[in-house]
Amino acid sequence: MSLNNTTGLIIKEQKVGENDRLVTILTADLGLIRAFVPGALKLKSKNIAATSLLSFSDLEIYQSRDTYKVNSARSKEIFFGLRNDIASLSLAGYFCELLLNLAPVFEPAEEYLKLTLNCLYLLCENKKSKEFIKAVFELKIAKFSGYCPDLIACAKCKEENLENVGFDVLNGVVFCEKCKNDSHISLTNSVFAAMRHIIYSDNKKAFSFKINEQSEHLLAEISEKFIISQTEKNYKTLDFYKQMRN
Ligand SMILES: [Zn+2]
Repeated sequence: MSLNNTTGLIIKEQKVGENDRLVTILTADLGLIRAFVPGALKLKSKNIAATSLLSFSDLEIYQSRDTYKVNSARSKEIFFGLRNDIASLSLAGYFCELLLNLAPVFEPAEEYLKLTLNCLYLLCENKKSKEFIKAVFELKIAKFSGYCPDLIACAKCKEENLENVGFDVLNGVVFCEKCKNDSHISLTNSVFAAMRHIIYSDNKKAFSFKINEQSEHLLAEISEKFIISQTEKNYKTLDFYKQMRN
């Protein structure tokens, strides 16, 4: 039996039996971990808040063979701002579903954790739109998990000085104005510049760009199509977010 001290974000919680909880935690050092929290749901449990969904917590975890148990937990951040806004909360739920599908298990996942925390802070602040935050999250998580689109040059003629490109969502590549065809989605120059910025800028700067509302709408649409087509999955939490957003 060994003891680990770690910090992580609770991205899934399930009730087990009367009083126990099973949580999935996104940690920087060990990626996704599933752990039991014995007695978490007892009335006076000190661990209840810190092992709730979307709590970022210091955790003391015991490992015994393949089983992990949370011995004690203390919240560092509960993202209170999310809990007052059902659309923000449901978008955070979609981020969790993407993480459950794409984040590594028992392997370092620091960049996934930082990206997610940044998005949750931004959602709470309400300064950037949800569509903007969602687009950055989708493109960055695609990049981290091996679905990085190639936005450097035309996939056919290798031209790098690109304008009015066509984006091939299935293959994650772009075509210049001369090489694109009707099966590609036409991107405005500002949407293409935003995608390049998100994909190639360092993670801290990924959110620091401006885009007008119309382009933001297209960026959000493309990012969503891209992650769905690359991961070949439909996300229930995304459908729920869309209902709540309207
Ligand atoms: Zn070309």
